[in-house]
Amino acid sequence: MTKYIGAHVSASGGVGNAILNAEAIGANAFALFTRNQRSWVSKPLPQLEIDGFKALLADRGFRPEMVLPHDSYLINLGSPDEDTLAKSRAAFLDEMQRAQQLGLTMLNFHPGSHLNKISEEECLDQIAREVNLALSKTEGVTAVIENTAGQGTNLGWRFEHIARIIEGVEDKSRVGVCIDTCHTLAAGYDLTTEMGYQFCMDDFERIVGFKYLRAVHLNDSKKGTGSHVDRHESLGLGMMGRDFFARLMHDPRFDDMPIILETPDPTRWAEEIKWLRSL
Ligand SMILES: [Zn+2]
Ligand SMILES: [Zn+2]
Repeated sequence: MTKYIGAHVSASGGVGNAILNAEAIGANAFALFTRNQRSWVSKPLPQLEIDGFKALLADRGFRPEMVLPHDSYLINLGSPDEDTLAKSRAAFLDEMQRAQQLGLTMLNFHPGSHLNKISEEECLDQIAREVNLALSKTEGVTAVIENTAGQGTNLGWRFEHIARIIEGVEDKSRVGVCIDTCHTLAAGYDLTTEMGYQFCMDDFERIVGFKYLRAVHLNDSKKGTGSHVDRHESLGLGMMGRDFFARLMHDPRFDDMPIILETPDPTRWAEEIKWLRSL
């Protein structure tokens, strides 16, 4: 069992560049956007780019299961607005299809926001229905729900929200969870002490289940426990405390899955990865 560590690297100039960017920081996992994350429309991936990505990935020794594409920030599968929902549905399917084309096994997404127009339950159940729709039109790609900080009306910050979405997904083998450590702290789970860490992980096991855990976003947090503010910080410079990172690196429940840095200073990534491996 091994720890697979990387960062959300740039894919600018083509998805293959993400592989080179990951290699350059000593990563054995990485995250990327496979389309413009701030636009509703995007051109299909050219076959040449797809073939090049697959060949380079194998050539540089990355396992496809350790690559975690992140979906567009615009997508809101829980949107109460018909027009936004239609656009989100199309974009989410496109994201899932791109992951499949690239030979990848997961797509990481933010659950959605109810915008105070529908209840939390309605919103969560709608998200599950939208995931079912996308799963029915794709193969081999798992929809990976990221927990959130609970900013505004974003759902997915309580483990119960995630459990409810999973409950509504028909194919349980193709739904998973990505724990973002900054979001977890901001949502109110105190990860800064040994006891807090154990409480949080026990809650996760009881409410969601580690069998659904597929990935980690490993970030420090500028704001404290329960702030509901999503501000990532470089490792060791925020509120988490350095012991937290040692705890996670020694926790076998986080073996064999992508552990992705989304820390704000890319020039520190190589050093951060090296430090994590040294713990
Ligand atoms: Zn995210
Ligand atoms: Zn994240």
